[in-house]
Amino acid sequence: MYEEYLTGKLEDLRERGQYREFVDINRRAGAYPEAVHRGVDGRPKPVTVWCSNDYLGMSQHPDVLTAMHRAVDEYGAGSGGSRNIGGTHAHYAALEASLADWHGKEAALVFPTGYGSNDATLQCLLRVLPDPVIVSDELNHASIINGIRSTRADRAIFRHNDVEHLERILAEQPADRPKIVAFESVYSMDGDIAPIREIVEVARRHNALTYLDEVHAIGMYGPRGAGIAAGLGVAGQVDIIQGTMAKAIGVIGGYITGSATLVDAVRSFASGFIFTTSLPPAVVAACHTSVQHLKSSEAEREALHRKTAQLRTALRSAGIEVMPCSDTHVLPVLVGDADLCKRSAARLLEEYGVYLQPINSPTVPVGTERFRINVTPNHTDEDITHLVRSLTAVFADFHEVPQPLASEAA
Ligand code: PMP
Repeated sequence: MYEEYLTGKLEDLRERGQYREFVDINRRAGAYPEAVHRGVDGRPKPVTVWCSNDYLGMSQHPDVLTAMHRAVDEYGAGSGGSRNIGGTHAHYAALEASLADWHGKEAALVFPTGYGSNDATLQCLLRVLPDPVIVSDELNHASIINGIRSTRADRAIFRHNDVEHLERILAEQPADRPKIVAFESVYSMDGDIAPIREIVEVARRHNALTYLDEVHAIGMYGPRGAGIAAGLGVAGQVDIIQGTMAKAIGVIGGYITGSATLVDAVRSFASGFIFTTSLPPAVVAACHTSVQHLKSSEAEREALHRKTAQLRTALRSAGIEVMPCSDTHVLPVLVGDADLCKRSAARLLEEYGVYLQPINSPTVPVGTERFRINVTPNHTDEDITHLVRSLTAVFADFHEVPQPLASEAA
């Protein structure tokens, strides 16, 4: 009975074109963005990765690798338990101090994943605060949504980046009722940036706590790579800044930063923090080395932004428009059809050695299926030329040169 039911559910997914297939992609140390792919013929061949969240190539940085190797040799593979049971390794304390300093906050708390940090923190605050209401941007990440949905707190969704809508929702609430405004700085599928200053201003006027996910910004924007809020000079007014160490930092793990009391409350009450094993010391050491590097080195950020501009221009010259919503290193190229997106991706991989994952519904709305391209400091000029040529050839074969949607072009 169970097998039958689940098979039916999987079949539904397939029929909707939403069944996810893993692609054989084997990264190699020091070679990023090259990877090895075993294709339909089973033979390994080199491909170039264009859709990784290893935005700055830090997963391959020699200092990060050395820190990880050393810590494995010194401390072994695992952490031995949750922070409360296994204890806190000195690397943890150093990393959390460094993260708090990065964002100009009193304290930081590290979680095994960015997903877990959003989920656990929001769930915790919404359960611990008395009768709170959460106001969430409609495009917030699944981890934020899940944290909210796992509570009974009243919730309202504001239209994406619509500050007036947010203000109307907040104004309906009693002044003394606890409120949390949850939003992101860079939205990962459109590459657009939230009006952080305005959101923070409205939230403060209505006595609401602000929770900002800077997962797609930290390391890449703002002074010392501290994020978009820091770049706007408003990080101090955001109550909680959340980040990941799996993207620009290049390793794994999530974190929150905020006042000592807020962070201590999450540390003390969040079951998603208390009841899970902490990251291995080697991971924490690698994260710390990467964060320290990104705080002081401008080279990776400079190369990221330079190459992003270069790729944008090269795509445009070839008649391939990046969706105009993007103001960042995330370059979405509209395909507009799930099947076409999948078939194009397969051709790009098998024939051109270009790895781009199709982004289909439900991750993005039907009709806005796309490729989400990320160039990194590690991509060469030749890589860029090859990508643009490959996309041009594949789109031409399918007789579909993607155009921005009318609404987005407006
Ligand atoms: N927030 C956002 C906006 C994300 O896009 C993601 C992951 N893609 C996460 C949180 C979760 O981060 P992690 O991958 O570290 O779990």
